[in-house]
Amino acid sequence: MISYNDFLNDIKSKKITSFEFTSQIFSKIKLNIELNAFITITEESALNQAKESDLRFKEGTQRPLEGMIIAIKDNISTKDIRTTCASKMLENYSPIYDANVITRIKEAGGIIIGKTNMDEFAMGSSNETSFFGSVKNPLNHNKIPGGSSGGSASAVSSGLCHLALGSDTGGSIRQPASFCGIYGYKPSYGRISRYGLIAFASSLDQIGFLSAEIDSISRITDVLSGEDEKDSTCLKKPNISSLDSLNNFPSEFKVGVMGKDLLEKCNSEVYETYCESIEKIKALGGEIVDVDFRFTEAWIPTYYILATAEASSNLSRFDGVRFGFRANLSEKQKIYKTTRSQGFGAEVKRRIMTGTYVLSSGYYDAYYKKAQQVRRVISDDYNTAFSKVDFIFIPTTPSTAFGFNEKSADPVMMYLSDFFTASANLAGIPGINIPIKNNSEGMPIGMQIQTKHLDDEKLLMFANFLGLKLKN
Ligand code: GLN
Repeated sequence: MISYNDFLNDIKSKKITSFEFTSQIFSKIKLNIELNAFITITEESALNQAKESDLRFKEGTQRPLEGMIIAIKDNISTKDIRTTCASKMLENYSPIYDANVITRIKEAGGIIIGKTNMDEFAMGSSNETSFFGSVKNPLNHNKIPGGSSGGSASAVSSGLCHLALGSDTGGSIRQPASFCGIYGYKPSYGRISRYGLIAFASSLDQIGFLSAEIDSISRITDVLSGEDEKDSTCLKKPNISSLDSLNNFPSEFKVGVMGKDLLEKCNSEVYETYCESIEKIKALGGEIVDVDFRFTEAWIPTYYILATAEASSNLSRFDGVRFGFRANLSEKQKIYKTTRSQGFGAEVKRRIMTGTYVLSSGYYDAYYKKAQQVRRVISDDYNTAFSKVDFIFIPTTPSTAFGFNEKSADPVMMYLSDFFTASANLAGIPGINIPIKNNSEGMPIGMQIQTKHLDDEKLLMFANFLGLKLKN
């Protein structure tokens, strides 16, 4: 893995230029092509940006992300750069505008090196639903990297970028970060503009970051957060300001932990790491408090009802007329059906059908409305918990990275791997994966911290503190 701070030091001591460093990155990407982490690479524009960075470093006018090597998940719109959502539907689609986060990265001197592979339309937990093929976990090529931001996690973990952007609807940043041994942060809902993020489930989707270092995550969060008039769900608040206070963690803090019954969902190595970590938190001065959640067995069904309902509506725009792929047909009436039949993969179709079903007039009250009510309960339970504790500490995933095809035949098994992550999206709160250690097979185990909506500065501060202390 590579460090942005080391890069800045090397620039300062004139050991390397941004152009040289960026060129080396592309050589490394080519050596690691087997990972399938990227769908598109943007070598020419990246090298041009690197030359500009060198000029600014020379003049002393560098910007907050100057020279940072950044990979972008392929559901974030990039002007004139193909943005596919890893779907045949958008295989050849080039947006005519940049997402708000992309505009800000460019203005801050970041270097965009390409678009990362992902599960189709961000639906999945293993990156096996991509139209462009699965991504490999850099730590063991027979294992999945997690999903849906699997390409982003794989690229960071194999040192192909300082940081990658991902999106998290039910865990898609935190889960692959956990499987690849890096940090993965989902900010509070509404703190980072979703303008230009191709929607999966709009009330849950959030752009966030994956990196080997909290410091880089904190830097980019400060630059990309804050109000955007083009996204009405983006809160009218100033930018998050986390970098300056990153090392100021207080000596007294309260940490909420979950009941034993919920932890039965974990395999033994994850469970043991969780228990060991709690002991360490106690030794660091943390007060451990048990927190209660109701209807936890309904968390995953609630997430999948709401996410699929929103997806069925959001994805109706892919009709063969407005965007991307169109089936080759003479009869107009069949364009919609045939385009969607040929353009979407099996998991996306499953979600559209499920979502349409739960929204249909006979089932709306039983499923969609009920799920909205449970969502409120989850949110209330989090609020009650955060009136007693500063953070909640839970595993990120029930297991370490699994093998290819191990869960893809059984969607429900796959969905259960989101158990510890999806509730944060339902409540809109921030969460972060911290890499803790590797198991006996060398596969990473990660733990997750969550905190109150809008307490992102505090979350990053704690992640920085704990990340260093818990690592072994
Ligand atoms: N694995 C979850 C799903 O398949 C989460 C996806 C995501 O966060 N984009 O829906």
